Amino acid sequence: MSSERVVLVTGGNRGIGRAIAERFVADGYRVAVTARSGEGPEGTLTVRADVTDAAALDAAYTEVEQQLGPIAIVVANAGITKDTLLLRMTEEDFDSVVSTNLGGAFRVVKRAAKGMLRARWGRVILISSVVGLYGSAGQINYSSSKSALVGFARSLTRELGARSITANVVAPGFIETDMTAALPEDTQAEYKKNIPAGRFGDAAEVAAVVAWLASDDAAYISGAVIPVDGGLGMGH
Ligand code: NDP
Repeated sequence: MSSERVVLVTGGNRGIGRAIAERFVADGYRVAVTARSGEGPEGTLTVRADVTDAAALDAAYTEVEQQLGPIAIVVANAGITKDTLLLRMTEEDFDSVVSTNLGGAFRVVKRAAKGMLRARWGRVILISSVVGLYGSAGQINYSSSKSALVGFARSLTRELGARSITANVVAPGFIETDMTAALPEDTQAEYKKNIPAGRFGDAAEVAAVVAWLASDDAAYISGAVIPVDGGLGMGH
């Protein structure tokens, strides 16, 4: 069954999104990724879209539907950070992060909902972050955008849950990608001290949870927040 399903991952050209796309390809799905730059991994269809641009995203979505068929599984992964303390945070720092991380999820899921309702089956997976519920100094914009995804998934579950459509949140901790490589080394060492697993995670470890949520095995799980964080956020 899985091989007949079409998956779309936003921001699938690098990092966690790329690992998620690779995992779905390996599992036999038909996989498309949106990318502003670069290409998705081998075996995927890459379409150009900036998730802050509803028209571009709509066109990209239509292109995937035309080439691969109706999209059954959407992974809203594209995200950015613009870290700084509240007193220094500009309107632009706030708006751009919220418009990408939360608005991007809104735009792609809104576009996806009609097709999922028609098919009476769908999987929405939103990539949040441990800091969405844990909080993080210097990340008021980012953590707000990420915790909002929880309300998003839970409201969507209440709207569409009766149609075999699930919506869940995956909350990664520190995962080895460009995003964490950009952190100063002493900051990385400090973070590792607080992670019970004693290490950063691998993007493939996030992808494995996303793949499971997309599967038939996870049909009765919706509105959940699943941490993939080595124990960092326990209780949050
Ligand atoms: P990267 O910075 O490695 O990749 C980010 C991806 O998002 C890229 O594909 C990028 O595209 C895309 N993207 C960013 N802005 C836009 C936009 N406006 N339109 C379309 N695509 C966009 O990040 P990660 O792989 O680390 O992060 C992926 C997700 O996981 C994010 O939502 C992030 O918040 C979340 N996350 C990451 C953690 C980590 O430790 N790495 C921890 C917790 C959550 P492009 O290449 O064109 O810039």
